[in-house]
Amino acid sequence: MKKSLLLLALSAGMCILLSSTDFEAMPPPAGADLSPFIMTGSFCAPLSDAGVTDQFGWRFHPQELCLDFHSGIDLSAESGTPIRAFMSGTADIAGTHESYGKYIRIDHGNGFFTLYAHCSKLLIRKGETVRIGQCIAKVGQTGQATGPHLHFEMIMNSTRLDPLWVLGDIPAIQETL
Ligand SMILES: [Zn+2]
Repeated sequence: MKKSLLLLALSAGMCILLSSTDFEAMPPPAGADLSPFIMTGSFCAPLSDAGVTDQFGWRFHPQELCLDFHSGIDLSAESGTPIRAFMSGTADIAGTHESYGKYIRIDHGNGFFTLYAHCSKLLIRKGETVRIGQCIAKVGQTGQATGPHLHFEMIMNSTRLDPLWVLGDIPAIQETL
């Protein structure tokens, strides 16, 4: 998609014109990595039959009206759709955040976490053990969200990774359970 975006750097009092291809080529900020990676073992797509509406990487934030690094992927789904645990683990966060809304983070061990945001309802509590494929929450639009969707993140050693390297084309992924 070729388009020009007017970026308002309000703090600096400047206006910069960048094309989308310019910022897509920018290196990621600290704490994010665009590099391909592979995972072994079983995993479960957090939503079945959901399309990716926003990818991992730089984007023009629709609400903040500024250049923003999207630290996960957005999967569109009807409000109330069950969200499933990507792998087994322990919920180390089950709470509310200004932009994530109602969200869950699961600790899978070895420094690997998955995060599920903008939920309408959380079905597990902090500290609870979850198994792969377990329904942990329902899709919603709490926090900063323009419509019902799941914001899904993969985090390895505090670094956000692009979930699409593992999930690929989400609609084609079949649950392993
Ligand atoms: Zn998102």
